[in-house]
Amino acid sequence: MSSTKIIHSIPSDPLTGAISTPIYQTSTFVQTAPGVNKGYDYARSNNPTRKVLEDLVANLEGGHSGFAFSTGLAAIDAVLKLLSAGDEIVAVNDIYGGAYRLFTHVYEKLGITVNYVDTTEVENVQEAITANTKLVWIESPTNPTLKISDIQAIGKIAKSVDALLVVDNTFASPIAQKPIALGADIVIHSGTKYLAGHSDIVAGLVVTKTEELSEKIKFIQNASGAVLGPWDCFLCIRGIETLDLRYKKQCDNAFSVAVFLVNHPDVDEVFYPGLFSHKNHEIAKKQQNGWFGGIVSFTLKEDTQEAAEAFVTHTQYFKLAESLGGVKSLLCHPPQMTHASVPREIRLKSGIKDSLIRLSCGIEEEDDLVKDVNQALAKLNQLKEEAYVS
Ligand SMILES: *Cc1c(COP(=O)(O)O)cnc(C)c1O
Repeated sequence: MSSTKIIHSIPSDPLTGAISTPIYQTSTFVQTAPGVNKGYDYARSNNPTRKVLEDLVANLEGGHSGFAFSTGLAAIDAVLKLLSAGDEIVAVNDIYGGAYRLFTHVYEKLGITVNYVDTTEVENVQEAITANTKLVWIESPTNPTLKISDIQAIGKIAKSVDALLVVDNTFASPIAQKPIALGADIVIHSGTKYLAGHSDIVAGLVVTKTEELSEKIKFIQNASGAVLGPWDCFLCIRGIETLDLRYKKQCDNAFSVAVFLVNHPDVDEVFYPGLFSHKNHEIAKKQQNGWFGGIVSFTLKEDTQEAAEAFVTHTQYFKLAESLGGVKSLLCHPPQMTHASVPREIRLKSGIKDSLIRLSCGIEEEDDLVKDVNQALAKLNQLKEEAYVS
């Protein structure tokens, strides 16, 4: 979907002609007789501002319907509520930490089994799947090591046992990747990240492929009630108006930073799907339409937590914070932050070494970001020398 289409798919307000989507800050809607209304009765069930966002995201993802939730995790939770006790999930082992916590510590207790596999090898999905598998859950690229899974191939395997393929498309965004066109049944987003794009709200989205799934998610959304408020819906719509511009700039910035890091003597490994050295570069290139994302992770030759800490506390533009995808560049040290709850041995197995650093490139000038990374690496050396002298 081009920038033109995105912008012009957002309708002006049918009531007033307002070109900017009004914030319908109301809990209820007046009825002319019991059950006779203008399509809205209560704001948990529906709200005109939310409807614009939901239609916009459905459109962006090429799905049947969209649903807006209070957070990305609330969106994930709504999808899991499609399941019943005894059902099985096959999930990517490099899954978002919050999703792991929800699957393992909430849903396993309710009788749902989760089998985590390395989905970057399609055969692993084939081996893990059983007649009881109802969901196959993948992220591509993953966080923080940017692993890529073949959505189309995994979709075919899911179909073979009538399981639904769910893709968390947060990192790729609908600008780069359209999972439904590749065979996914459901797409979820943490709208907190690229969609809203300004690090100012938390939000979640679900997009369904079929009317049948739409009805089920609609029911769960209303029954469980974790909807996104109208003000945050407005901010998310406003964010999406510039998604195409922002995302492409963030991809360009990340590519420049990744290339710089690859050539730096103090850097060990660079994780970026746009590099030829990336294991599934060819698949990424195909399914992400040549856009490789705004996130770059890397490890240091001096593979210690102390070295990583010195780096992340000496950047100027990259601010140390959880989250990603906003206009301002952010960075984090996953072993001490996003992945602190994952035991070290498990972290190491999935490539999260002690010195792993994750960069989320914003929309600043490419040169400024490269210079910032360069000066922080230089600072590392300076600190090392000072420690040696003293
Ligand atoms: C942040 C994130 C989530 C969770 O979203 P929240 O809005 O923080 O609840 C889910 N998946 C991925 C890939 C994320 O990065």
